[in-house]
Amino acid sequence: MPSQEEFLWKAVQAGKLAHAYLFAGNDAAAKRQTAQIIIQRLNCAEKSGPCLVCRNCLDIKNLSFPDLAWVFPEEKEIQIGQIRQLAKALSFAPYMAERKYAVIEQAHAMNAQAQSAFLKLLEEPKGSALILLFCEYPALLLDTIQSRTQVISFFRFGDNALSQDATETFLHLHSAPFAERFAFAKKTAEAKRVPDVLEQWELAARARLLWQVQDNGSVEEIQKARKILGLIGEMRVDVAKTTVSARFALEQVLIAL
Ligand SMILES: [Zn+2]
Repeated sequence: MPSQEEFLWKAVQAGKLAHAYLFAGNDAAAKRQTAQIIIQRLNCAEKSGPCLVCRNCLDIKNLSFPDLAWVFPEEKEIQIGQIRQLAKALSFAPYMAERKYAVIEQAHAMNAQAQSAFLKLLEEPKGSALILLFCEYPALLLDTIQSRTQVISFFRFGDNALSQDATETFLHLHSAPFAERFAFAKKTAEAKRVPDVLEQWELAARARLLWQVQDNGSVEEIQKARKILGLIGEMRVDVAKTTVSARFALEQVLIAL
């Protein structure tokens, strides 16, 4: 059993399940898997479940379980209407489960009004709902939302570990002529690979900054590396959350190298 699932299951068994959890980190697949399995275990017809084949297990998997609301961004944002709808759904007594469940994917995509509405929901919990917020960028959530949730980390390494190629390209482009940098941005945007490249470069930039700090890079070098790391983080958020073009975002990073 993955450690996050075990952690949640122990809380269930101890009767100490919190009202809301923030699933932080970049491993979207593991977040979904964990949320699904925990909700299945809580509702499976088999005591030693989840069996994955009973009606409840299947309905949860297919997101058709009546006591489960799963919220996704619409057009890159989660609107206040979606949160109001969720609040209404949670205000009813559960149909068949012991409690209602809500999962919010990409919670950082809640716009300002949606976040305020959501905060209200957290402040005035109705019944015994379990709310799971998935969020890759918790810093974009109101502090008051963060402080009312319990954080569980989901970070992915392995297939998205820093590749040698990405590091070499990143370092090479630091001293490449601007024409080459812009050509790289165009090509990467056309291949729709900007989010992947920025994710890799964030890892590369962090490694470079650490290396400079440990190896006594000059103050200017360290400052520049820190600035680039911050910029890549900002651009990743912009690409994920706003309508800013991926190519433009990548160009901003390439100009700053
Ligand atoms: Zn089952």
